[in-house]
Amino acid sequence: MTPNATQNSTNPLRVTVWNENRHEQTHPEVQKIYPDGIHNVIAKYLREQGSTVRTATFDEPEHGLTEEVLDQTDVLTWWGHMLHNDVQDQVVDRVQKYVLNGMGLIVLHSGHESKIFKRLMGTTCDLRWREAAETERLWVSDPGHPIVEGIGDYIELAEEEMYGEPFYIPTPDALVFISWFKGGEVFRSGCCYHRGRGKIFYFRPGHETYPTYYNPQVMRVIANGVQWAAPTTGATLSPERHRKVPLETIPAKK
Ligand code: ZN
Repeated sequence: MTPNATQNSTNPLRVTVWNENRHEQTHPEVQKIYPDGIHNVIAKYLREQGSTVRTATFDEPEHGLTEEVLDQTDVLTWWGHMLHNDVQDQVVDRVQKYVLNGMGLIVLHSGHESKIFKRLMGTTCDLRWREAAETERLWVSDPGHPIVEGIGDYIELAEEEMYGEPFYIPTPDALVFISWFKGGEVFRSGCCYHRGRGKIFYFRPGHETYPTYYNPQVMRVIANGVQWAAPTTGATLSPERHRKVPLETIPAKK
């Protein structure tokens, strides 16, 4: 990961799209919607938007998230569900280190319960849920935020899984979407955080049995999130941590 704030044709953002990729292999209904995996649908869209995209999945050595891969990643997107607890702690430590050093992280849907998200939030990230193929309406709650650029008043998804409050997360630095569900619940569905030099965006929709990642507005938000979370150069700090010698002379105690 190196600073690369703006995406353009000569210097595209480097995105790694990570997917657990298990439902797609074990659940025929999911396979039907995402025959090449959720990761390839997301990767295709981001490539079309001009990013340099690679994919990584759970079954690869070190889950495909080696130092070498993360060194070449400006923003990592994360979709997981069944295998959260099987993700190696060493890989979680590594991703955390890269985020704190400036790599962007986009956490999708059931990634709320991933080790990496819980680690970075410091809370349980627990919530209420229901699978009833109900309508979700994601209301824009921060219209000036770059993540909602190009979106109207709301995004409506005809069928989604419900996630409801209370969502046990720290209060977001910015809350860009609030969802309403047909069954009556509401949910903070677009949450932005800063951790160290890194930016994190949690985006709720994306249950595996619905074609949510083919929705152009959902994908626009993910692409906007990638742009927002891209590393910036920031300050160049001295490596010195123990400031033994003060900048000004401090009078000796009498
Ligand atoms: Zn789900």
